[in-house]
Amino acid sequence: MVVVTSPEKNVSADLKSRLIGPIILLGPPGAGKGTQSRELVARYGIPQISTGDILRDNRARGTELGKQAEKLMDRGVLLPDQFVSDMVADRLRHADCARGFILDGFPRTIPQAKWLDEFLAGCDASTAVVVKLDVDYNQLLRRLAGRRTCPTCGRIYNVNFQPPRVPDACDIDGSKLVARKDDSEEVISARLKAYEKETLPLADYYRASGRLREINGDQPVERVTAEMFGAIENDRV
Ligand code: AMP
Repeated sequence: MVVVTSPEKNVSADLKSRLIGPIILLGPPGAGKGTQSRELVARYGIPQISTGDILRDNRARGTELGKQAEKLMDRGVLLPDQFVSDMVADRLRHADCARGFILDGFPRTIPQAKWLDEFLAGCDASTAVVVKLDVDYNQLLRRLAGRRTCPTCGRIYNVNFQPPRVPDACDIDGSKLVARKDDSEEVISARLKAYEKETLPLADYYRASGRLREINGDQPVERVTAEMFGAIENDRV
């Protein structure tokens, strides 16, 4: 019997068993970190760790951690470094992070980046690949104002650029899409300011150690995904 195998299938099976290591997605709110994380999860079989998602989940469940975070989150202000780093440390100890993981929304300050370097020192493949998604400021405003998320499967839509097939309903499971509370005009501006002031300096931090890969995030989603895979696999695979 002749077994015909697709090369792409072999590649993806192989990628799902390799040591990938940490991947950090850097970029302003609305740059597409969440959307691109989902592509990375599917290709490499490693988990996405979004600090924003962990916090929103805690809020939805009414945990103590969620209650402590809600006021600052609703104002678009960053939470204290120690608070977020402790949360990430808990998550990184789970067994599913052993082959690698995707950090989306962390680190967001220089102290968080330094903490992460120390935390990862000594792990296998401790050097992170840092992918920065660059998107024009006005485009970010349009993306954030139109963003809608499926509360069931987490898929992200945009009413202007990537609308669902049926208005307000998820293509996959039909759930009613929701807008994030902090995607209101006033809070968006606070979040973008926090990014410029606290997070943008991380680009220099990672550039200095040769870890930064910059991608134009103002292109069709598939193009951004392809460039991101290329950047990661050049370094790692
Ligand atoms: P995000 O979904 O990544 O935009 O995060 C939503 C909100 O959660 C932010 O505006 C912050 O208030 C908080 N947050 C998420 N990640 C961090 C972080 N790494 N450091 C501080 N605050 C964070």
